[in-house]
Amino acid sequence: MGTKQQSSHKPVVYFYDEEMTNYNYGGGNPMRPHRVRLTTNLVDGYGLTQHMRLMRPNPKTREEIMNFHADDYVDFLMSVTPENQEEFMLQMRRFNLGAVGEADCPVFDGMFEYFQIYTGGSIGGAGLINDGTSDVVMNWSGGMHHAKKGEASGFCYINDIVLAILELLKEHQRVLYVDIDIHHGDGVEEAFYTTDRVMTVSFHKYGDFFPGTGAVGDIGHGHGKRYAVNVPLDNGMDDASYKYVFEPIMEEVMQRYQPQAIVICGGADSLSGDKLGCFNLSLEGHSHCIEFLKKFNVPMLVLGGGGYTMRNVARCWCYETGRLLNKDLDDALPESSYEEYDYFMDTHRLRIETSNMKNSNTRTYLEELKTSILEQLRELPPAPSAHMVKKPPKQEMNDELPEEDMDIRGGGQAFEDRRVVKDEDGYVSGDDAEGNEGAARGTVEVEPAMPAEHKPETSLGPHEDSIQIMDVDEVKADN
Ligand SMILES: [Zn+2]
Repeated sequence: MGTKQQSSHKPVVYFYDEEMTNYNYGGGNPMRPHRVRLTTNLVDGYGLTQHMRLMRPNPKTREEIMNFHADDYVDFLMSVTPENQEEFMLQMRRFNLGAVGEADCPVFDGMFEYFQIYTGGSIGGAGLINDGTSDVVMNWSGGMHHAKKGEASGFCYINDIVLAILELLKEHQRVLYVDIDIHHGDGVEEAFYTTDRVMTVSFHKYGDFFPGTGAVGDIGHGHGKRYAVNVPLDNGMDDASYKYVFEPIMEEVMQRYQPQAIVICGGADSLSGDKLGCFNLSLEGHSHCIEFLKKFNVPMLVLGGGGYTMRNVARCWCYETGRLLNKDLDDALPESSYEEYDYFMDTHRLRIETSNMKNSNTRTYLEELKTSILEQLRELPPAPSAHMVKKPPKQEMNDELPEEDMDIRGGGQAFEDRRVVKDEDGYVSGDDAEGNEGAARGTVEVEPAMPAEHKPETSLGPHEDSIQIMDVDEVKADN
């Protein structure tokens, strides 16, 4: 395995904007932006802010968001409010939004600003990796992996991950996406389903569980065939079982694909005791995945995702922030974490206990799963390279799904499960001709890979995104 130590003296960057943690999905919705405030309070309480650069995200514009998302969808999200939503009933249905308290993706106050800010952290982080400023960037408010080109899903409206990967593709031939949220990373997989410039690997609960996609046979399409990897798992995954599949699969992915940047969706709903999850990971087991990838010494953008037992989400992302800084944190929580909140009064400890729930993943199942995925990976050609593109990859903005797919849209992460109907290629059913499928499905158009001897012809100018550096004291003062 890769044992190179992180030799870089570049700063570790942590994106945070307290403003962003005040938005509220309302109506008892399990997704709470506030959890990132809890996380950052712990991070600060442990004194970690001194060891990294805190940055405030630069909110993204409508046009920047449209690099992936459909114009009409973005314009709708900018226009609709809880007050005027009655006028938008048809569009709400079409784009899978609903009323506060009823839908996974409600129309809530200030939501577009919230999208602009968390997206700013993820794209800004990609920019810092592109221009060589940092090799480790965190944005725990990001990681909205279910959002589609023209559709909200599972608490996600704007897919900051896809937008950040598109940014990374300006400077990197191959980007690896790894998803350890308990839910399938469907929105990101779909966007890059037909390209080999991005490899997506998702570990998730599969079977009678939101969003219903992510079978082991779903491996990508066209140029992207074999560049989507799905690891479907059952209830009760514990640290040892996770490691048993994660390490060999990721080892093989790293060797075969040789990514130049890694993006991680670090959803904490795969932890033991999550309100919506059904795995049994400890903080160490969850963090191990990120630490394992970090050893390969490839620039890494680490994002949040799901996570619905707030006190444990904060513990997890704080622990992982520490590990990304090579710090081991004392298990006794810092005094300051009790000052304003009582979230951590349950145990006063950083680490969490796992439960004695049954692990439904037998060793035989995991062994067969691992073997079949390793076989798939061994069929990959040597790492592809591609012409560098001068501009952000252009996207087709045909956002219409075939009519029959309209019915299978939606479904609630919190409230219900729906399945997407796919053919044996793992492709969403539709009447599109070959070649037009990508657009209909919501994939992005990325210049395909070229043989390795085609050297990049262009170098890009400095990253234009200006990001404000936030004074650490500013964050402390606000707590
Ligand atoms: Zn999730």
